[in-house]
Amino acid sequence: MSQVSVINVSSYDEGSIYNAICGHLEMAGKARLPHPGARVLLKPNLLSGRKPETAVTTHWSIISALIRRLQELGISDIVVADSPGGLYTPEHFRSVCSAAGLRRPGIEEYLNNDFTFGSKQTQKGFSVRSFNLITPVLQADYIINLPKLKTHAMTTVSAGVKNLFGAIPGLQKPGMHRRFPELAGFVRMLCELAATISPGLTILDAVDSMEGNGPGGGTVKHTGLTLASSDVFALDTAACRFMGLDPGAVPHLIAASGMGLLPDEVKYVGDPFAACPEPFTLPDATKSTSFIDSVPKPFRGAASRVMDWLLRSYPSIDASKCVGCGRCAESCPQHIIKLRGGKASMPRRDCISCFCCQEMCPVHAISAKRCLKNF
Ligand code: SF4
Ligand code: SF4
Repeated sequence: MSQVSVINVSSYDEGSIYNAICGHLEMAGKARLPHPGARVLLKPNLLSGRKPETAVTTHWSIISALIRRLQELGISDIVVADSPGGLYTPEHFRSVCSAAGLRRPGIEEYLNNDFTFGSKQTQKGFSVRSFNLITPVLQADYIINLPKLKTHAMTTVSAGVKNLFGAIPGLQKPGMHRRFPELAGFVRMLCELAATISPGLTILDAVDSMEGNGPGGGTVKHTGLTLASSDVFALDTAACRFMGLDPGAVPHLIAASGMGLLPDEVKYVGDPFAACPEPFTLPDATKSTSFIDSVPKPFRGAASRVMDWLLRSYPSIDASKCVGCGRCAESCPQHIIKLRGGKASMPRRDCISCFCCQEMCPVHAISAKRCLKNF
């Protein structure tokens, strides 16, 4: 059985957030917390340089409160690190941190300064033998995973497990999409990554969440919740239930179940746990991302490929909104996006529907389309 602590918080008021963080650490229990002297990594979701009120990134008040509490517990070797979408450079990281409100006293002095990476072996039986990870992940004695609750065009949900994809440096993330072009393989890789990184604690920021075309272009949904668990898979199970989703139908939890990573039972402590009164609106893309994934392998012939072509969601660019920044092209694992006349365009052929381009577009010029709608 795994424990998930629940604390309702109505806003990002610093005092309320601090109390919530203290409550979660207390409910986790001293034995599950880092010891004084440990090097602790805080891993927020810093997808892209967006303001806190857009609900794209983990809110700075959670990071600030956690640093304060860890210091009170005698832990001072703290680093805040992530590899946002795009290049893994000090300049890009600092610019994303600026937009997300992290360049303020109490956080700025803890921001990562090491932009190297190394490799970590996985356990026997995994499909990935080793992951390239940013150095702060490799050097940490204890990792606190700080995801934001969002919908996700490819994986349906972005919470604890998906947040750890940001431990893969820079443009090696699109490389992983290229290596695992189908959803089933990609989400299995995510589970292997989460099991390999094995955060000591995951604290979910769902005070303001994102629904619709997440993780970068959705709508803010005020949900007033924080969750925490030392079991990232238990936390994601709770997060899906909160969103109004059946965890047994969410791709990465299906994979986790098959790998024996899901807890038998989730025990809730703290405030009463209930699903959000209004279920989250899902991204257009996930209503049928890949028909072929649901067809048994022996029958995946020409007919099912035609159906997949008709039903699979693919990105579509609104040229009137495109500002020609090129971020979509930089993040495309298939290198199929071209800029012509200051506007982006991509052929559908060779697109693997990963929606990295949509995640990175700063002006929401990319949406998900399908040949057959309403199916
Ligand atoms: S065009 Fe977009 S969805 Fe298609 S492969 Fe490139 S990044 Fe992924
Ligand atoms: S579609 Fe978006 S990310 Fe791509 S070039 Fe246009 S504005 Fe930039």
